[in-house]
Amino acid sequence: MNVTRLIADFLRALFQSLWQTPAGNPVENLSRVQIVNQLLQECGLRLIESDPKGNARPLTDAEIKILQETTLSLGPVWYAPFRSRPLNLWVDRNPGGGHYGNHWLRIGDPGKDPTVLYRIFIHEGTHASNEYRQWMYEQEWCTKPGLDWKRLGEAWMHPRQQGTVMQPGSWETLPVDSRDVSVAPGEDLAEMVRYFVHSVKNEREFLWPLDRNKPPMMLWDTSPTRFVFVRDVFLRLPSDHPWYKTLAPDQEMRARVNLGLG
Ligand SMILES: [Zn+2]
Repeated sequence: MNVTRLIADFLRALFQSLWQTPAGNPVENLSRVQIVNQLLQECGLRLIESDPKGNARPLTDAEIKILQETTLSLGPVWYAPFRSRPLNLWVDRNPGGGHYGNHWLRIGDPGKDPTVLYRIFIHEGTHASNEYRQWMYEQEWCTKPGLDWKRLGEAWMHPRQQGTVMQPGSWETLPVDSRDVSVAPGEDLAEMVRYFVHSVKNEREFLWPLDRNKPPMMLWDTSPTRFVFVRDVFLRLPSDHPWYKTLAPDQEMRARVNLGLG
């Protein structure tokens, strides 16, 4: 264990002790102003609730609560890079999708379904966290065995390229179809983080096209390396985190070998 890791672990424990009390979840008692302030000061997330053109709208209390809970759960390894240069997040009065670029994260109006905001936030926020960390997935990780990306000239290649059905082979991928992640490493990462969250939280309704009769962790049979990467590298969750789940011992072992985690 090196010194940087020790300091990081100490800071994480410190931040957790600041917002957790033995009584349970203290964030429930914070006012809207306190939550907005916490998101900016602790998490580096700046909410932009109006703009001169009138496209940005104020967030509802429910939306702000989702952002707070999700950000704190994703943890400081995910959001701490935003503190030195805040991530500007806004909800567009116009519906449709989301986008991240150059420190700005747009979420199209989710309408009456706040889970849209939740899902887009994890996906686009992961693009942001990856970029704030100098594209760590592309630079350091995605070419490792089990993640299986290769760079050919300017193009990123994956054995399962976009639009092709799952084939058996000595490579791993997420079992997705229309939202195919094999178009680029960044999309692969954004979706694997989102799927990690939904699977460990048992949110089967968000795991289409996974068979809803199967347990959500079945999603990772085709890429245990992605699961362990998200848990132990990209989010680096502490083992007492409510999202810390484990796969079968042989899957865990294979993933750790692939990632060189010893
Ligand atoms: Zn994306």
